[in-house]
Amino acid sequence: MRFKLHSQSDVVVAGGGPSGLIAALAAARAGAKTTLVERYGFLGGMATAASVGPFSPFHYEDQQITMGIPQELVQRLSREGGSTGHLKCVPEYGSGSYMAYFDREVYKSVALDMLEEAGVKLLLHSAIGGAIVEDGAVRGIEVCNKSGFESILGTVTVDATGDGDVAAAAGAEFSWGRPGDELGQPMTMFFEMANVDVDAIFDYVEKNPDDFEWASRLYSATPLPPEINQRYFVAQGLMSFVEKAKAAGDYRVGRDTVLFQSTMRPDVIVFNSTRIGMLKGTDADEFTRAEIEARRQVMSLAAFMKKYVPGFEHAYMSSTGIQVGVRESRHILGTYVLTQEDVVEGRRFRDVVARGFFPVDIHDPKGGKGYHAGGGTWIKPKGPYDIPLGCLIPKTMDGLLMTGRNISASHAAHGSLRVQGTAFAIGQASGAAAAVAVSQGKKPRELDYRDVQAVLLSQNANLDIQDEGNGQKTGTGSR
Ligand SMILES: Cc1cc2nc3c(=O)[nH]c(=O)nc-3n(C[C@H](O)[C@H](O)[C@H](O)COP(=O)(O)OP(=O)(O)OC[C@H]3O[C@@H](n4cnc5c(N)ncnc54)[C@H](O)[C@@H]3O)c2cc1C
Repeated sequence: MRFKLHSQSDVVVAGGGPSGLIAALAAARAGAKTTLVERYGFLGGMATAASVGPFSPFHYEDQQITMGIPQELVQRLSREGGSTGHLKCVPEYGSGSYMAYFDREVYKSVALDMLEEAGVKLLLHSAIGGAIVEDGAVRGIEVCNKSGFESILGTVTVDATGDGDVAAAAGAEFSWGRPGDELGQPMTMFFEMANVDVDAIFDYVEKNPDDFEWASRLYSATPLPPEINQRYFVAQGLMSFVEKAKAAGDYRVGRDTVLFQSTMRPDVIVFNSTRIGMLKGTDADEFTRAEIEARRQVMSLAAFMKKYVPGFEHAYMSSTGIQVGVRESRHILGTYVLTQEDVVEGRRFRDVVARGFFPVDIHDPKGGKGYHAGGGTWIKPKGPYDIPLGCLIPKTMDGLLMTGRNISASHAAHGSLRVQGTAFAIGQASGAAAAVAVSQGKKPRELDYRDVQAVLLSQNANLDIQDEGNGQKTGTGSR
């Protein structure tokens, strides 16, 4: 151990995004002494740090697939005025079948409360820079924080950094982006505009369908609290204005359509529309260049909206994420690699530990095009698909479990599982698996998947296990 010891736990969760948050809750509730380490002073990952949202679906069509601790989180947020709950998208093309809007500030506070209630030890403002490896097994992580350099030991470490930082530092094998040119999905800096005349833009979307690649309205099954926004939409387009602004030299954004939507606040619109391609969020210099380029695009797009688009005449840019959002980075090689075919065919696995359902959604890695113009990919799976335990277990490293968007999957499969609904479910799976490994004194690769499933079911996860498992095969080689 190079650095002084900070603490020792059964389970160390590295990163507090959607997957890390739920992993820590699942592990602690299953009886493991759990520490969660996060570089920021709050939790939520891309949702809070990069202003990404809403939660993309817990549903496949009208079936709710994700339950368990993630559903508890949505209910808790709703009770505390921080979520709309699940709203149905009509039509679902371009946005998935349901989305749950949330308030970032309520989310930050609820996440801390839930972790404290579960007895998770938190270490914030601590950037993970290394892994402690002995005899081919990860024994913990190394952090840099206000106390200096510190070691945090754990029997099992769950890599919830989104980027697979722990696995990479430990020497685990990984791939980057798509096959061939290794490009990943572009980064995007979210931003919000306030003081928008939302009725005017809502009307424009409704009356000008030809100016959009797609647009959906969202509906709640129950009345929404009166103090929050009552009308929700998401739309991708404004092509006529973009064309005009480009010709006038008024549009310096990396994509040729604008993707924007409602928020829980009646006069605030959020933009998922800057595009920074061909740079890696895992390379400090490239990440820096991405931040600079993203902010230029934010300013250009906000000025464009004010000058050209109905409803934005008196609006102003009110917030940005504290970092550019990173969609894709390392895919850590596991004992099973989830493929596009697994996702699109809605494949079942005996050793299912989480389920997914979002379309394969790949933003054009190279250019600025949307789905219709041939740059992006949008393929709806035939049904919900299973994520097997093997996607969470690195092929070559013990003492480590993967979770969230950096699990073992191809570029295309990642295009589906990367959304927060699925990241939450994967988080619960890795937290449960870590706790079982600790309680049984086994390596993650030695686990019997049925023991992990039993813990997940006791925590109300929905695995839809049918008689002798889910048929086809195991994705692990585990017993
Ligand atoms: C631009 C963009 C738009 C998106 N749109 C949507 C959407 O509309 N709906 C949806 O559901 N999903 C959306 N997503 C996807 C979703 O936000 C992510 O895939 C999801 O957050 C992944 O969860 P995660 O827990 O794996 O990782 P992350 O959310 O990336 O969380 C990782 C956590 O680990 C911490 N961390 C990382 N590295 C370190 C380190 N070295 N040391 C300490 N801490 C570290 C981070 O601060 C963070 O808290 C979008 C993503 C992006 C980038």
